[in-house]
Amino acid sequence: MNPQRHFVVRGCTGCDTCRSLCPAEAITYDLEGAHIHQEKCIGCGTCMENCASEAIREISEEEYQKLLAQAK
Ligand code: SF4
Ligand code: SF4
Repeated sequence: MNPQRHFVVRGCTGCDTCRSLCPAEAITYDLEGAHIHQEKCIGCGTCMENCASEAIREISEEEYQKLLAQAK
């Protein structure tokens, strides 16, 4: 497990697979689809590996920090 891993969701079709498989209950839904809560995520990668739409992508720490800065 690597809690420092970060994931983003783009193009979610709402199949619910990731949420049902996440061992940390770190995924909920909003208007844009699945949403990963970083503070709960344990970095196992199960969501990304099982998304049939390939909507979940792992991003680097640098990319994650950029997204955080944009969100402010
Ligand atoms: S598995 Fe992929 S398509 Fe299905 S809800 Fe999760 S992100 Fe969306
Ligand atoms: S990486 Fe693992 S813990 Fe994190 S959201 Fe995906 S399934 Fe849940």
